[in-house]
Amino acid sequence: MPLPQADFQSLKQIPIDQVLARYGVKLRPAGPHTLYGACPLPTHTSRQSRESFSADLSRRVWACHSASCMAARGGRIGGHAIDLVAMMEHCGLRQAGLRLQDWFGLRATDPPAVRPPARTSAPAACNPPLGFTLQGIDSCHPYLEQRGIFPATARLFGVGMYPGNGFLAGRCVIPICDDNSRLVAYAGRAVHGEAPKYRFPSGFRKSHLLFNLDRARHTGARHVILVEGFFDALKVHQAGHAVVALMGTSFSQRQSDLLAGYFPRATLMLDGDPPGRRAADVIAQFLLAKMTVDKVELPEGVQPDQLSSTEINFWLPRTTITL
Ligand SMILES: [Zn+2]
Repeated sequence: MPLPQADFQSLKQIPIDQVLARYGVKLRPAGPHTLYGACPLPTHTSRQSRESFSADLSRRVWACHSASCMAARGGRIGGHAIDLVAMMEHCGLRQAGLRLQDWFGLRATDPPAVRPPARTSAPAACNPPLGFTLQGIDSCHPYLEQRGIFPATARLFGVGMYPGNGFLAGRCVIPICDDNSRLVAYAGRAVHGEAPKYRFPSGFRKSHLLFNLDRARHTGARHVILVEGFFDALKVHQAGHAVVALMGTSFSQRQSDLLAGYFPRATLMLDGDPPGRRAADVIAQFLLAKMTVDKVELPEGVQPDQLSSTEINFWLPRTTITL
């Protein structure tokens, strides 16, 4: 049920600085009615445009003039309070309107028709679809070849060097989809040894999904390999197996439910180091009640991403090959 138009009009009148304050955004005065500062939007990836965000307190609107930020928002310069919340929360306008209503106590003309959203973030609200895709990703970059990733694999996964601006500039980007193949984030891998090794967008929650689950489940395989990292997954995929990656060594109840929801059997192939072995023990405990689990113990210092397809297939049970 949509919010009545009158309510959208009243929500647009909420002081924009109060909405920004909800997100902890601090801006500086630049005139009697104007604030400016760093752009807080998730679409803002440029590091050059440091002071590109402004808020007009009298008109109750905001704007960001960074070209890449605007392009990621469909070319729009800015908007009002509802647009801001929709951008910050990756949600639709109606949901953003309800959120504002909840925060600022505005009443709808027909109160029983409007239910404020729950304050707790349910799993479905986590990692919402991204709403934009990065352009110009180079899947034939030498970095991928160095790591043993075939161009066909890189293209299939959408992995490659990102030449644009922003926090992923000059990094190898890895698109991350949820189990329904909706793009929810990009990870950025440093390729020249710079820190941090991986960058993720703020607000992204690794614990709510498994990398490559959408592709793995569509292979029709009943047996999945669980690895730690993106490049482990790429290499195990190239060796012909259905594979998902944790994006680390921690494992959540949600990830356990996802995995067991799609597969009756899993083989854990974590890194051959103390954190990998500890994680494999914990994960096996999680999963054993729900599915058949076994694990491959790689030799000390060995990780799946360093192995050739032949070596991966030496360690994995032949029954898991799907391609
Ligand atoms: Zn911006």
